[in-house]
Amino acid sequence: MSEPRCQAYYTATINNESNYPTLHGDVEVDVAIIGGGFTGINTSLELAEKGFKVAVIEANKVAWGATGRNGGQVTGSLSGDEAMRKQMRKTLGTDVDQFIWNLRWRGHDIITSRIEKYGIECDLKYGHLHTAYKPSHMRELEASYAEGVQQGMSEHLRLLQAKDMPDFLETSIYHGAIYNRKNMHLHSLNLCLGEAQASVSLGTQIFENSPVTHISHGDTQNSPSVHTALGKVRAKRVLLAGNAYHRLERPKMRGKIFPCAGGLVATAPLTDAEVHAINPKDLAVYDCRLVLDYYRITGDNRLLFGGGAHYSGKPSRDIAGELRPALEKTFPRLKGIGIDFQWSGMMGIVVNRIPQLGQLSDNVFYAQGYSGHGIATSHIISEIMGKALSGHMEEYDTFAACSHVRIPGSEWLGNQFLALGMWYYLLLERLR
Ligand SMILES: Cc1cc2nc3c(=O)[nH]c(=O)nc-3n(C[C@H](O)[C@H](O)[C@H](O)COP(=O)(O)OP(=O)(O)OC[C@H]3O[C@@H](n4cnc5c(N)ncnc54)[C@H](O)[C@@H]3O)c2cc1C
Repeated sequence: MSEPRCQAYYTATINNESNYPTLHGDVEVDVAIIGGGFTGINTSLELAEKGFKVAVIEANKVAWGATGRNGGQVTGSLSGDEAMRKQMRKTLGTDVDQFIWNLRWRGHDIITSRIEKYGIECDLKYGHLHTAYKPSHMRELEASYAEGVQQGMSEHLRLLQAKDMPDFLETSIYHGAIYNRKNMHLHSLNLCLGEAQASVSLGTQIFENSPVTHISHGDTQNSPSVHTALGKVRAKRVLLAGNAYHRLERPKMRGKIFPCAGGLVATAPLTDAEVHAINPKDLAVYDCRLVLDYYRITGDNRLLFGGGAHYSGKPSRDIAGELRPALEKTFPRLKGIGIDFQWSGMMGIVVNRIPQLGQLSDNVFYAQGYSGHGIATSHIISEIMGKALSGHMEEYDTFAACSHVRIPGSEWLGNQFLALGMWYYLLLERLR
C-alpha cells in the first residue's frame, strides 16, 4: 500500500509536486533502481548523464522517505570515518587519510554543481556552526579545526570561543563552536524533486505509488527483474536503495541496518527582527552530543528544529512536546512560540556507521545506511554507484570490502541491542 507524504514543513512548501505514473505492464531498461530518495534519484541521474536507460520504482512519492523529512544540513561530518579509516587502510594504504578527507567535501561539490547545472530552487544557504554543548567538547572541535587548517581549509573555518558566541546566536548554552562557511543548508525535498526532474529530462522513467514486492535475481540466461503488483521492470542491473524503509530480501538484509526515528518541528514564521536576533548570520547549527539538537532558519523564516532519536525504531507520538523544552532552552526569546508542523523520519543506522555498499547477487546491488548524515553522503554514494553500475568498480570495491556487524535475530531484537548500545554510549558521554 502506498502512503501520501507526511505533514512536514517540506511537504507544505513543495515547488512542484511530482506526479509520475504507477508502473503497469513490462518495462525494459539498463538499470532498475528501487527507491526514489537521494540515493535512488541521484544514481539514476549519474547513469542518465552517461547515457544509460534507467527506471526508478518508488513505493510512494519521490523523496517520500528520509530525503523529504530531514534537517536539511549539508555538512562535512562523515558517519563512520574512524571505522572507515581503519578498514580502508587495508585496500588504500597510506592514501586512506586523503581519501576520507576528500569524501567529507565531495558531496558539497556534487550538490552545488547539480543545483547550478539544472537550475534547482531549494533555498540554498551557506554557513554552519558545530557547537560545544559541554566544555569538554572544545577539545574535539579544536582537533577538527586543526585538521581543517592543515588540509588548507582555513579560509572557510573559524574556531569560536564562548566569548564569541553572542555575535552568532542569542543563547548562552554553548562553550564555543567551529564556524564553517563551506557547509550549507537547504530544502531537501525540493532539491530531490529537482534532481528527479533533471534525471527524467535525460530519459529516466520514474514510477511512483509502485511498491516493489520482490526481486528476481536472474541467472546466466536471464537478466534480473523487479516486480510490483501491477508490473515488472527487467534490467541488466538492479540497485536496491530503499534504506531504512524497505523490507525486501530479508534473509540477506536483516540485521544490517536499523531504522531509528528522528523528530522535527517547524515553528510559525518568525519576524525578520526575531531571526536577526536569534541567528543573525542565518547559520545551520548542531552540537557535539551523540544525540544532538540541530536547527536552522527556513526560506520562509521558520525555525526548523530537530533532536532526539528513538533507537527502538518507533516514532514519538508527541514530537512537539518532546522538542519544545530544548528549543526554548536554546532560544528563551521563543518561549511559547507556535509550532506549525511536526513530523518524523527513519534514519538507517549501521553499527560501525560505515555506509553499506554490497551485492545480493551478480547483478543486484544495494547502497544504504548513512546513520543520520546522508544528504552529502548519499550524493557521494550515488556517484560511486553510478560508476559501479556502469562497470567502474574501484571506489565501490573499497566500500564493499568493509566488514559490517550483522545482528542476528528479528528486527525488533536488533533495535533493542542498538538502544542498549546507545544507552551505554550516552552514559559514557555524561561522564565526559
Ligand atoms: C529526521 C531526520 C533528520 C535528518 N537530518 C539530516 C541532516 O540534517 N543532514 C543530513 O546530511 N542527513 C540527515 N538525515 C539523513 C538523510 O535524510 C538520509 O540519509 C538520506 O535522505 C537517505 O536517502 P535514501 O535515498 O538513501 O533513503 P530515503 O530517502 O529514506 O529513501 C528510500 C525510499 O525507498 C522507498 N522504498 C522503500 N521500500 C520500497 C519498495 N519496496 N519499493 C519501492 N520503493 C521503496 C521509500 O518509499 C523511500 O522513498 C536525516 C534523516 C532523518 C530521518
